[in-house]
Amino acid sequence: MSRVVQKFGGSSLADLACMRRAAQLVAQRWHQGEQVAVVVSAMGERTDHLLALASEASKSHAAASAETDALLATGEQESAALMALCLQNIGLKARSFAGWQIPVETCGPHGNARVQQIATTTLLETLRQKAVAVCTGFQGTMGGGKRIATLGRGGSDTSAVLLAAALEADLCEIFTDVEGVYTTDPRIVTTARKIDTIDYEEMLEMAALGARVLETRAASAAMRFRVPLLIRSTFSDNPGTSVFATDKSMEQRSVTALAYSDKDAKIALVGLDNTPGIAGKIFAQLALNNISVDMIVQGTTQDEKKAHITFTVAKADKERACSALEEIRSEAPFQELRSDDKVIKISLIGAGMNSYAGVASRMFRTLADKGINIQIIATSEIKISVLIAADYLELAMRSLHAVFELQKDPSSPSKI
Ligand code: ADP
Ligand code: ASP
Ligand code: MG
Repeated sequence: MSRVVQKFGGSSLADLACMRRAAQLVAQRWHQGEQVAVVVSAMGERTDHLLALASEASKSHAAASAETDALLATGEQESAALMALCLQNIGLKARSFAGWQIPVETCGPHGNARVQQIATTTLLETLRQKAVAVCTGFQGTMGGGKRIATLGRGGSDTSAVLLAAALEADLCEIFTDVEGVYTTDPRIVTTARKIDTIDYEEMLEMAALGARVLETRAASAAMRFRVPLLIRSTFSDNPGTSVFATDKSMEQRSVTALAYSDKDAKIALVGLDNTPGIAGKIFAQLALNNISVDMIVQGTTQDEKKAHITFTVAKADKERACSALEEIRSEAPFQELRSDDKVIKISLIGAGMNSYAGVASRMFRTLADKGINIQIIATSEIKISVLIAADYLELAMRSLHAVFELQKDPSSPSKI
C-alpha cells in the first residue's frame, strides 16, 4: 500500500465548492487503497485578512509575534476542520490535526519558525485505521507546546514536504491554481510553457528566485529528503510537473526558466572612502542587525579615491538597513545613502547554462534593445539575475521569454 501527502493551497480552498473539489481528489487516492495525509493552507486570502486585523488591533503589533502567530494559525485550523467535514460528507473517515496536536515542534522566531521535528505516531495510527489525517499547514508549536508558531508566508508547502519526509510517503502532491511549474509565471507571460519534469536543484533555484508556485524552504526540504513531488492543479486533470532527482533535467538547453521577485529593495552608498575594511564594516553592521544582503556591486570614481557600493535587501528590511548604516556613519563615512524599492529582480535559470557561452550577453542585449537599464547583476553556475526598474517587469519578462524560446517544446532545436 502506498502513502501520499496531498497539499492544497489557499486558492484551491477559496470556498466550500473548491474544498469539495479538493475532497474529491483526496477520495480518488483513498479509493485506490492509498493512505492519505492532507495538508491544508488557509482558505483564499484568509491569512492576509488576519494579518490586516492584527495590525488594526495593535498599531505597534510586531508582524511576527506570538499573538499574531496564534491568530494566523486559526486560518489553517478552519480549513482543516472544514476539509475533514467535506471528506466525512462523502463517506470517508477523516479527522483534523492542528500543529500542536501532531505535534510539529519548531524553533526560531515567531512568523518564521523552523521545523525541528514532526511526531508521526498518532498520524500513522490514523492512517492505519483507514482515516484521512487532515493536517494544518504553516504551523507548529514552540517551547515544548507552550506557544503556537507559524513558518512564514507560503509555509504550508514546507509543512507538506516535511510531513511527507517524516511519514516516508511515496509522493507529495502539491495542488495549486496552475497546472504545474511553468517556464515562467503564466500570469505574466501568457506563452509560458508547462514543464513536465524538473530536477530538485533547478526547482530550488526557481523558488529561491521568486517562482512562488513552490516555497523555497519546501524545495530545499524536498531535495534534502529526496521527497518526490508532483505539482498540479486542483481544477484540471493535467498531469502536472514532477520534481525529482534527475540528471536528464528538464531539457538540455541553456536556459530553462525565468523567474522574478518583487521582494527586494536597493540601497546605494555613494562616496565611501576607497580604503580596505570599509565594505567589511558595512556588511558586518547589516549582519549584526540580522539583515541579509543579496546582490552586491561595488565601483570606484575615476581617481579611485571614492567608492560606491550598491546592494539589495528584503523590502521589509530597507528602513532598518538604512538606520543601521546611518549609525556607523562616523566609522564608515559616506556622502549619500539612496534607497529604492521600485525594483525587480529577474533571473534566467538553467542547469546547462554554464556549458553554453553567450547567455549573459544575449540577456543584456535583449534588455538594452528594449531600453531597460540593468542596475545590478549577480550570477551563479545555474542562474543570471539582474535588477531593473519595476516598471519594466512585463516587458523584460516577455522579451527574455521570447528570445530564449522558452515557449518552445524542449525537444525542438533551440537557437542557443
Ligand atoms: P497556493 O495558494 O496554491 O500556494 P501560490 O499563489 O502560492 O499558490 O502559487 C501559485 C502561483 O505561483 C501561480 O498562480 C502563479 O502565478 C505563480 N507562479 C510564479 N512563477 C511560476 C512558475 N514558474 N510556474 C507556475 N506558477 C508560477
Ligand atoms: N496561509 C499561509 C499564507 O498565506 C500559508 C500558506 O498558504 O502556505 O502564507
Ligand atoms: Mg503557495
